Amino acid sequence: MDDHQIWHRRQLLDEAAKGFERNGFSVSLFDDVAQALPFLLQQGESAQTIGFGGSMTLAELGLASRFAAAGKTTLVHGRPGLSAEERRVIMGEQQRCDLFFTSTNAFTLKGHLVNIDATGNRVCAMAFGPRRVIVVAGANKATPDLDSALRRVKEKACPPNARRLNFNTPCAKTGLCSDCNSPDRICRITTIIERNPRATDVHICLINADLGY
Ligand code: SF4
Repeated sequence: MDDHQIWHRRQLLDEAAKGFERNGFSVSLFDDVAQALPFLLQQGESAQTIGFGGSMTLAELGLASRFAAAGKTTLVHGRPGLSAEERRVIMGEQQRCDLFFTSTNAFTLKGHLVNIDATGNRVCAMAFGPRRVIVVAGANKATPDLDSALRRVKEKACPPNARRLNFNTPCAKTGLCSDCNSPDRICRITTIIERNPRATDVHICLINADLGY
């Protein structure tokens, strides 16, 4: 990206940050990952149990392994080798952790979080359960409004996610959503968080970088 694109994305993030603040969220904005990482690691210092929603953004940041190395109890349901029951238990524990990290499939410039989930552990924990939630999102997740956010999830997030998870869905083969009725369909729960949920402290961490899908 050249300086003009970086500048443009920063304008969009500034606008979204204002929207999130209007909607009752607290917000941090960083120019790159190197700037954001110390902040994110500091947020976990007072937490003992830290949960993680399934997210390529978080994987790219390596947050779970960094917190595990610092002695925290990390709740990662996507760890290799877990049985279905073990995954289910961890997803339940995520709902009661001290701090829950997640990304978002899209956010709008008006300060809304838009997500589509298959199981619901991620979107439930974003709204209620953990004491604190931190949503980490790259500038590539920014969209002008709710319609474009929902479109982004279907066009940009779901197909590569379905393929990454080796699901037998049309989008994992063609790259396009056909509103399928596949048993592997990942689009089962759609959420729009319009305001900071009443009983949860949700912090939005925006980073001027490409992160996740
Ligand atoms: S509805 Fe089916 S085809 Fe469309 S994005 Fe979701 S899983 Fe893929």
